[in-house]
Amino acid sequence: MYEVLDLLIVGAGPAGLSAARIASAQGLTVAVVDEQARFGGQVFRQAPGEFAAADPDSMHTYPFSHSLFEWARGSTAVQWHFSTLVWGIFDDQQDEHLRQVGIAGPNGASVLKVRRVLIAAGAYDLPVAFPGWTLPGVLTAGGVQTMIKSQSLMPGQRFLLVGGHPLLLLVAELLLDAGAQIAEVAISRSLPKMREMLRATRALPGQSRLVKQLIAILWKLRRHGVPLRFGTGIARVEGKESVQAAILCQLDHNWQAIGDTQRRVDVDTVVVGYGLLASTELARQAGCGVYWDSAAGGWLVEHDDRLRSSQPGVLVAGEQTGIAGAFNAHLQGELAAWQCVLELTEQAYEPIEHTLLGLMARLKRNRRFTDTVITLSAPKLDALTQRITPDTVVCRCEEVTAQEVTQFLDAHPYVTDINSIKLACRTGMGMCQGRYCQHTVAQMLASRLGCGMEQVGIYKAQAPVKPVPVMALANME
Ligand SMILES: Cc1cc2nc3c(=O)[nH]c(=O)nc-3n(C[C@H](O)[C@H](O)[C@H](O)COP(=O)(O)OP(=O)(O)OC[C@H]3O[C@@H](n4cnc5c(N)ncnc54)[C@H](O)[C@@H]3O)c2cc1C
Repeated sequence: MYEVLDLLIVGAGPAGLSAARIASAQGLTVAVVDEQARFGGQVFRQAPGEFAAADPDSMHTYPFSHSLFEWARGSTAVQWHFSTLVWGIFDDQQDEHLRQVGIAGPNGASVLKVRRVLIAAGAYDLPVAFPGWTLPGVLTAGGVQTMIKSQSLMPGQRFLLVGGHPLLLLVAELLLDAGAQIAEVAISRSLPKMREMLRATRALPGQSRLVKQLIAILWKLRRHGVPLRFGTGIARVEGKESVQAAILCQLDHNWQAIGDTQRRVDVDTVVVGYGLLASTELARQAGCGVYWDSAAGGWLVEHDDRLRSSQPGVLVAGEQTGIAGAFNAHLQGELAAWQCVLELTEQAYEPIEHTLLGLMARLKRNRRFTDTVITLSAPKLDALTQRITPDTVVCRCEEVTAQEVTQFLDAHPYVTDINSIKLACRTGMGMCQGRYCQHTVAQMLASRLGCGMEQVGIYKAQAPVKPVPVMALANME
C-alpha cells in the first residue's frame, strides 16, 4: 500500500480501465475500486469464472476491448479493489492538494489519501413508475441484461419490452438468443420521420459496426415473429402476486395516450427500458457541480474539455459526462489519465498535450453519432409521469405513494425544491438514496409548477453514498 496514491479510479468499466492502463504505464501509482466482483463495468459484465457458460471472449465486442481486458487480467501495476464500494470523497485537512477517499470492502472500511480521483462510476436504468410497476416480474432492461450476462439467469418466460432506449433492442436480442419468447417490443416514440432519418444518416459514417448490429437485431425480431410497434406505451401492469398481463395503449407524438386504444397482452415479465441516468451521487457528495440534460442522462457532472470537474483534483469520465456508450467512455478514460500524467509528472509537456488534443478530436467526431442516438431516443419524462395514479408507489424503499406526495404539495403550495419533499415525505431516504424515485418525484413537482427539472433540483448526496455496514465504519482506523 502507498501512503499517498497518485490516482484513485472509481469504476472498472471501459472508462476506468482505459484510464488505469494509461496512468500506470506512465508511472503513476494507481488504485481501481469497483463494487462489482470483476472488471468490465455494465457493458462487459462477466459471469463468474466457475460458470460453465463463462466466456471471456463474449466481451470483445468493441475494437478496444480485447487488448484492454488482456492488460487488466495480467496487470500487477495497479492496486485492484473489487467488491469494494467508494462511499465518500473528502478534503484532506492537512494538505489541500490531497483528497481522502472512503472505501469499504471485504477487508472492512478505510480511507485512502490520493492526489487525484477519477470518478468513472457509470450509469443506471431510468426508473419509470406506472400502476403495477412494483409487481414481481417488472424489470428494467439493464437488470435483465445483468441477470443473463452475469448469472446466466432467465427471469421469465413470456416477455413484453417497453420503452425506447437502444438498450431495449440489445436486451431483445439477448432474450431471443437465450430462447425466451417475446410477445412484443413497444416503442413509445413514433416512427422517425423522413427528415429525422436523413439527419441521422449524416452521423453514420464510421459507425458501420453499430449499424450492422442494429440491422441484425431488427432482422432477428422479424425472423422470430416479434412485433416492433412504435407509438405504443404502457398504461399499467396487472397481476395479483406477480405480472399476469400488461395494458398497452397507442401514443401520439407527445407520448400522450390516445383514447380507446388500450389492449391487453398476456405476459409474465415486463422489461422497461426508457433510458439511463448517470450515477452522479459520488460526484455530488464530493461537491462537484452538476447540470440537467434530460436526453443525455439526467443530472450530469460539470467538466471542462479535459474532464476536470468543478472540484480541484476530481476528474470524471464515461457516463458521468452523459450517456454516450462504451467507446466514448474508453476515449474519455484515456483523456482523463493523460491529464493526470500532465499534472503529476515531470514528463515533457508537448507530446502529452498533443495526445490530449488528438483524443479530444476523436471524442468530438464520435459525439456526432451518440448525440443523434440520444436525440432519437430521448425519454419524455413529463408524459411518463402522467400514467401514475394516486395509489402508485413512487418511492419503493420508503413505500410512499403519489397521493402522499400530492397531498403534501397541496398543503404546501410554496414548495419548489425536491429536497423539501424528501424531508417531509421520506422519498429518497431509503436504501437506494433516491436512485429509484428522484426523477418521478422531481417530474411530479416540475409538472405542477410548470417549470423544468433543473429548477426543482436533485436530492442532496451525503456520505455514505451507498449502504455501508455500520460495523465497518466503526472499526475503521
Ligand atoms: C445496466 C446497464 C446495461 C448496459 N448495457 C450496455 C450494453 O449492452 N451495450 C452498450 O453499448 N452499453 C450498455 N450500457 C451503457 C454503458 O454503461 C456504457 O456504454 C459503458 O459501459 C460506460 O462505461 P463507464 O466506464 O462509463 O461505466 P460502467 O461500464 O457503467 O462502469 C462503472 C463501474 O463503476 C462501478 N461503480 C459505480 N459506483 C461505484 C462506487 N460508488 N464504488 C465502487 N464502484 C462503483 C460500477 O460497479 C461499474 O462497474 C449499459 C448501461 C447500464 C446502466
